[in-house]
Amino acid sequence: MSRVLTETHPDAHCELDFTNPLELAVATILSAQTTDVRVNQVTPKLFQQYRTAADYAAADRAEMEQLLRPTGFFRAKTNSLIRLGQALVEEYDGQIPNKLDKLVKLPGIGRKTANVILGNAFGVPGITVDTHFKRLTNRFGWVDEQDEVKIEFLVGDLIEKRDWTMLSHRVIFHGRRVCHARKPACGACALATMCPSYGTGPTEAAAAAKLLKGPRARDLAAAAGVDPDLVPAAALLAPEEPEGQLAAAVEPASVEPEERLAASVEPEVR
Ligand code: SF4
Repeated sequence: MSRVLTETHPDAHCELDFTNPLELAVATILSAQTTDVRVNQVTPKLFQQYRTAADYAAADRAEMEQLLRPTGFFRAKTNSLIRLGQALVEEYDGQIPNKLDKLVKLPGIGRKTANVILGNAFGVPGITVDTHFKRLTNRFGWVDEQDEVKIEFLVGDLIEKRDWTMLSHRVIFHGRRVCHARKPACGACALATMCPSYGTGPTEAAAAAKLLKGPRARDLAAAAGVDPDLVPAAALLAPEEPEGQLAAAVEPASVEPEERLAASVEPEVR
């Protein structure tokens, strides 16, 4: 299945825009509870205005809140970014550390965020268990588990370490474009013959092809042996699933939104 995912999603990559580890850390924190597309709309101006950890540490709260407002939970996110800047200045000379145990102690950075930073900014293999990765690895039958940290270790045992980062991107790509949470495109999925959850979504080619999303939707249909012309033009422009790369699916619904955000960006480290 991993090999088919590699062939099916040759364009898989981190969908957050960044040019250095600090920008990636910031973008990843902002991606909680929103889409990467939305984050990428906000970060150009943010990164222009805040270039160093010291800039975040000394930020004008109201000004930053205005910039972050489109990403939702902007007060909590502003708080996380200011505290992150302060911690980096105080403890790491303004630099993002490249070790998991240090990253997860920083404000706003949990295990998922740390793995994104390690894998994409430092080239250290990391498995990112977000809502898509969790759903798909369970559907694939790779795990029967809801705990993100356990999933990370279980999948880590199945896949060679050097492939961890790219596997994460491919699984997340598949989750956003094919294997959707509510209606997976089973009848137009390249994994159909090997997936134990085949049939969770429509299996008829025409119905499934309509569910594919993204600019490569027709290529995805072809990879599954389905006529690409069954994919409507609108699918090529369809937005990603309304879950950011790190949007957590585990926060209890009973807590207040700001607390949920805090839980998603600063999960307890185990
Ligand atoms: S066959 Fe269906 S459930 Fe399995 S990976 Fe494909 S879309 Fe998802």
